[in-house]
Amino acid sequence: MSFKRQDVKPCGACGEPLGHAGPIFHRVKVERLIFNVAAIREQAGLEMMLGSPLLASVMGPDRDLATELQTDEALVCQTCYLSHTLGELVDILNQHQEAEA
Ligand SMILES: [Zn+2]
Repeated sequence: MSFKRQDVKPCGACGEPLGHAGPIFHRVKVERLIFNVAAIREQAGLEMMLGSPLLASVMGPDRDLATELQTDEALVCQTCYLSHTLGELVDILNQHQEAEA
């Protein structure tokens, strides 16, 4: 991991400089995924037919069982990291991103 001068941004939650609460800050990344029900059914059916999950994974199309919907990533100061749950941080980051758009 590298972190250069151009990577420094204000806290994604409170907008203060990242180091205002101390030298430790956090990079928070949350990926939202959705199951691909058709692929899961296909995989489960193949496993039942062949009687082995391992054999089905080798013999089948090995499709992705989930698809990424959205990724949220931001730098967060120590104070915000410690004072919010992960769900609250994601909501705050989404509100800031919507306000910027
Ligand atoms: Zn903050």
